[in-house]
Amino acid sequence: MNLVLLGPPGAGKGTQAKLLEDGHALTKLSTGDMLRAAVAAGTELGRKAGDIMERGALVPDDLVIKLIAERMDEGGEGRGYILDGFPRTIAQAEALDRLLAERHKRLDRVIVMEVDDEALVERITGRFACADCGEGYHDIYKPTKVPGVCDRCGGTQFVRRRDDNEEVVRARLKAYHA
Ligand code: ADP
Repeated sequence: MNLVLLGPPGAGKGTQAKLLEDGHALTKLSTGDMLRAAVAAGTELGRKAGDIMERGALVPDDLVIKLIAERMDEGGEGRGYILDGFPRTIAQAEALDRLLAERHKRLDRVIVMEVDDEALVERITGRFACADCGEGYHDIYKPTKVPGVCDRCGGTQFVRRRDDNEEVVRARLKAYHA
């Protein structure tokens, strides 16, 4: 089964993709995660994408299409894909059709997650994650039980995404709606 999760930033695509990945034999392909890994690793792609991501704009189609194409061939044979954050433009959607057809696969479902913009801003600006295990939290809706200590792994370091501030979130929402 091959799925696309569509939805604005903060809708919960990543969370749902993870649940689906764990519960089914599916490989999650998240362009946002791949791009953040490239930025952290300081690769050529990361250098090109970093500034764009900090502004909340979209990274050029050719770069993300190449990234997805490479990853599609890495997963275990026969496993389906959960695409999280891709496609985001018509050119990317057309590329996905081609990439699937070349691999004799088809898209089975597209799940659209709809959330009100103001709720998204509130969700995103309050979110943070454990730097060790990745468990997600929120300042108001899901704080750690013990302040400063991860409920899941006991870690004490937490991270916030650089683009999770109100100004950039509004730019990301604008790019999403466009
Ligand atoms: P969100 O859905 O919360 O905005 P993502 O982690 O999916 O977050 O994406 C973070 C950033 O990475 C985007 O703002 C954009 O700059 C870039 N990005 C991710 N996926 C794509 C894509 N398919 N096309 C273009 N840019 C992308």
